[in-house]
Amino acid sequence: MQECIFCQIAQKKSTAFIVYENEETMAFLDIFPSNKGHTLIIPKKHYENIEEIPEKQLIEIAKTTKKVSQAIKEATDAQGFNIILNNGKTAGQLIMHLHFHIVPRFENDNLKLTFKSNKAEKEELEETLKKIKQKIK
Ligand code: 5GP
Ligand code: ZN
Repeated sequence: MQECIFCQIAQKKSTAFIVYENEETMAFLDIFPSNKGHTLIIPKKHYENIEEIPEKQLIEIAKTTKKVSQAIKEATDAQGFNIILNNGKTAGQLIMHLHFHIVPRFENDNLKLTFKSNKAEKEELEETLKKIKQKIK
């Protein structure tokens, strides 16, 4: 079976513009960037999504995300950045190897990453709250 592209990058079987790596994680430039400096953070080991990755590895991802996002902000003179995880096909995940996007943001960059807001009744919020709280493990 053909290995996934991010596994190939992690194993240096495919080239990438590697910004940073350590034993467990890697950060490299997105080759179709939404803004200059758009970077992806991956675990070197293949996990499809946040449900699969063990907490310990997720912590490593969080540390790398913090380190790299700071560098991107300074290097690109960005005013802020979005950290995005598309988790699952329906959420827009195209590459099924967990990755966080860091997208630097600039005044008037015209990038639209909007969430539509809907009015919700108190009862509906309460019902949703109850269902979710029951599933917290
Ligand atoms: P997703 O929609 O899965 O969250 O995002 C996948 C991202 O990977 C996209 O932003 C896309 O531009 C990027 N991408 C796809 N193929 C490659 C590749 O071969 N190398 C790199 N560096 N980025 C890729
Ligand atoms: Zn993979």
